[in-house]
Amino acid sequence: TQPLAERDPELAAAVAAELTRQRDEIELIASENIVSRAVLEAQGSVLTNKYAEGYPGRRYYGGCQHVDVAENLAIERARKLFGCAFANVQPHSGSQANQAVFMALMKPGDTFLGMDLSSGGHLTHGARPNQSGKWFNAVHYGVRPQDCMIDYDQVEALAREHKPKVIVAGGSAVPRRIDFARFRQIADSVGAWLHVDMAHFAGLVAGGQHPSPFPHAHVATTTTHKTLRGPRGGMILTNDEELAKKFNSAIFPGLQGGPLMHVIAAKAVAFGEALRPEFRDYAAQVVRNAQALADELMKGGLDIVTGGTDTHLMLVDLRPKGVTGADAEKALGRAHITCNKNGIPFDPEKPTVTSGIRLGTPAGTTRGFGEDEFRAIGRMIVEVIDGVAARGAEGDPEVEARVRERAVALCRAFPIYPGL
Ligand code: PLP
Repeated sequence: TQPLAERDPELAAAVAAELTRQRDEIELIASENIVSRAVLEAQGSVLTNKYAEGYPGRRYYGGCQHVDVAENLAIERARKLFGCAFANVQPHSGSQANQAVFMALMKPGDTFLGMDLSSGGHLTHGARPNQSGKWFNAVHYGVRPQDCMIDYDQVEALAREHKPKVIVAGGSAVPRRIDFARFRQIADSVGAWLHVDMAHFAGLVAGGQHPSPFPHAHVATTTTHKTLRGPRGGMILTNDEELAKKFNSAIFPGLQGGPLMHVIAAKAVAFGEALRPEFRDYAAQVVRNAQALADELMKGGLDIVTGGTDTHLMLVDLRPKGVTGADAEKALGRAHITCNKNGIPFDPEKPTVTSGIRLGTPAGTTRGFGEDEFRAIGRMIVEVIDGVAARGAEGDPEVEARVRERAVALCRAFPIYPGL
């Protein structure tokens, strides 16, 4: 019965400090968002106590009648959001959703085609240190040197040469729309399954601001915590009943035991929110904000990979200022602007240094920032980076202090979690 602050003051202090950090920092990490109070409440609910191996109506434990309601709500809402026939809402993460798809469609040693990590793909798309790269024969496509757009001709040539079982489209740093129809045509030409990993842009699809992977994809996976603004987790979607059965058994008992019912409940809440008309406005604002931010950064002398964005994220090429991603991330952090260093295509720097930063607008848009605020943020970023360009890695302390004050003031004008 003791509240957290009394039961475990040490941990409670870390949680309180994190809340303050989130309140007072401009969050530009493209894969993060700020969930609603309702999502937090569902995730912090007594559903965490329940074991529910199996699927609704077919559990290996008694007492599942209420968690069945939660999971059925999540499934029904996910199907409606993405206009597809089957949804598995149990993956603990986006990585596990991808693992399950691979487990269902391939055997160890089989070949698949995915986007190179250095071009914007994800670790789980066959990167060497990842299980996907160790247990399968991963062949990679990338982007074209002239415009950093996906090289569909290369995808086609590699597909012909290697006859992959699966082709994965999607990534973690892809600022432009993906041509799903072209991917499907290539997949069909070699008899491969098309797997779209829409982890990053799922919220834009849900909000009608990005083409849907369906009907082109045989299967789509996503995380639920990025643009979709739900709890941390994953999901698998398909229209094919036979594939759906395979994915269900790959998740349980293939990869996971008991599903996280409290997280599934929070997914249901988030999907319900995403079905509301306001979410369309949110998704449209996310994209407008990203375009405003990219424009302001270019005005400030920075390059944007592909010359802009039509999603929630952009890759900033810092080379015109002679600044590295690592130094920019640290300097912006000192000024209360949070982002991550990110390799740009054909990056001459090591992955621990990089020539770029990745910026996204989902979290800032949730707290209410519009284009004016994002333009102001763009100017703050340029000031801080110019400080690093002039003074080296240590940056310009005066500029950083001034920007920090403006960043905190902006955050306080758009408060999050009032009363928490
Ligand atoms: N797929 C893509 C495209 C991602 O960007 C991510 C996360 O960054 C994942 C999968 C993995 O999600 P998780 O971090 O939940 O394992």
